[in-house]
Amino acid sequence: MENTFTTLENFGHSMSAPSYRFIPKTSEEIYEAFRLAKKSGLTVTLRGAGRSYNDAALNGGGIVLDLMGMNQIVEWDADSGVVRCEAGVTLEQLWHKVLPDGWWPPVVSGTMTTTLGGCLGANIHGKNNFRMGTIGEHVAEFTAVLPTGAEITCSPKKNGDLFYSMISGLGMLGVITTVTLQMKKIESGLLEVHAWPTRTIEDQLHSLEEGAPKYDYIVGWLDTITVGHGQIHAANYLHGDEDPEPQRTMQLSYQTLPSRLFGVMPKSLLHYLMTPFMNNLGVWGINTAKYITSLRRHTFRQSHAAFHFLLDYVPLWELSYGRSGLIQYQPFLPKETALRVWTEILALAKKRGLPPYLGVTKRHRPDKFLFTHALDGFSLALDFKVTDRNRARLNEMLQEFDQIVLEAGGRFYFAKNSETTHETTARFLGAETMARFKKLKKRTDPDGLLESDLYRRIFG
Ligand SMILES: Cc1cc2nc3c(=O)[nH]c(=O)nc-3n(C[C@H](O)[C@H](O)[C@H](O)COP(=O)(O)OP(=O)(O)OC[C@H]3O[C@@H](n4cnc5c(N)ncnc54)[C@H](O)[C@@H]3O)c2cc1C
Repeated sequence: MENTFTTLENFGHSMSAPSYRFIPKTSEEIYEAFRLAKKSGLTVTLRGAGRSYNDAALNGGGIVLDLMGMNQIVEWDADSGVVRCEAGVTLEQLWHKVLPDGWWPPVVSGTMTTTLGGCLGANIHGKNNFRMGTIGEHVAEFTAVLPTGAEITCSPKKNGDLFYSMISGLGMLGVITTVTLQMKKIESGLLEVHAWPTRTIEDQLHSLEEGAPKYDYIVGWLDTITVGHGQIHAANYLHGDEDPEPQRTMQLSYQTLPSRLFGVMPKSLLHYLMTPFMNNLGVWGINTAKYITSLRRHTFRQSHAAFHFLLDYVPLWELSYGRSGLIQYQPFLPKETALRVWTEILALAKKRGLPPYLGVTKRHRPDKFLFTHALDGFSLALDFKVTDRNRARLNEMLQEFDQIVLEAGGRFYFAKNSETTHETTARFLGAETMARFKKLKKRTDPDGLLESDLYRRIFG
């Protein structure tokens, strides 16, 4: 099995950890890595594409199993829309496979570079969480290798307790090796998108709440510098003959994001142009311009790829945040307390001189997975620039946010938060969930081999 000693990073390049990286290609090689870890007294962390904003796929001094080597689409049934993939298959590979046959993944993240194993590990949500739930709700079954070497199959009916805990379990209970997923039938490669401005935080929350029942997808942008201004994008699938050329719009060539800007400049260079604007004044300028151009309410058609994967338009955009990178903070708040908490944390960030540079809002619904982050309410994802000077103050401020969120009945998302302590985690999850997790962990991983930097931070 291929292996190296290397330094791995989080998506935002703000955290790093040296580790032994193994790239298994089979279940037997995964088990071999566990045997080696046990013999050498090392821990093991699972890693997909490493697109988590935090330390979920990092393991300082230990073994990291990079599952991107297991990346075959094993079976695709274009009649039923059921697909079986190895865990290292990316969302990009998946939609490329299914779209020409008239299907689309039911839930996707804001980037197509994530792997199915990572998406199940975090139990990702999309811009349709209020309607379609998390990705786990569309999994018919998965297979997994446990650190004991046991190979298991889980579905809602078979090993149901492991199904509902390994999905969302952040790779702490076992290695998902294959995933069987139901795709969503579509009749066009386009979505009809409606865009309108919002003037205040209250206005934005109202738009998300009122808009969600009318649309298949809804997402908001919030100007976190001039706190309050924003814009909503809400989209619907096209049906029947609304798209006169569905065969053309469902072609990959129609969907694929262009690799050059204005047909000339390679987009891989674009992040260099963004770097000079990644400061309070620059972001204020960009946000103000964006808000002014968004004042007109309008409707347009957009390809699925362009609507969902806007962030992939600028490859390596995260590098524009500079040497110390970025982190994201995404609290989930009940409907009743979202307005108060969003207002309070954004005011606090302003007061501390640590404003977030991007704010993205979504509408959610609860689900029954063990470490669920979703609830009947809203989330606000905030991107913060990290510098050597602000790192400690930022961490301290986000820990303060954690307390405000918890007291307001909110939830955390462990693919995003990088500050939550084990004391806060214990309060957040509660004694019953903690006890259930410990019992499952003892069963699947009796030697405690599966650990990550995140695991040690949130469980102590
Ligand atoms: C630009 C961008 C946009 C994003 N948008 C969204 C969004 O809209 N919604 C959302 O929910 N998230 C979003 N995310 C977060 C991202 O979807 C999650 O962090 C996801 O888990 C990353 O997948 P990955 O393959 O990179 O996994 P990694 O980051 O490598 O791992 C994530 C977790 O899954 C575990 N894991 C990995 N593989 C396996 C496996 N085979 N079996 C069991 N556990 C495993 C890891 O141990 C780790 O705990 C976004 C991230 C980025 C960078």
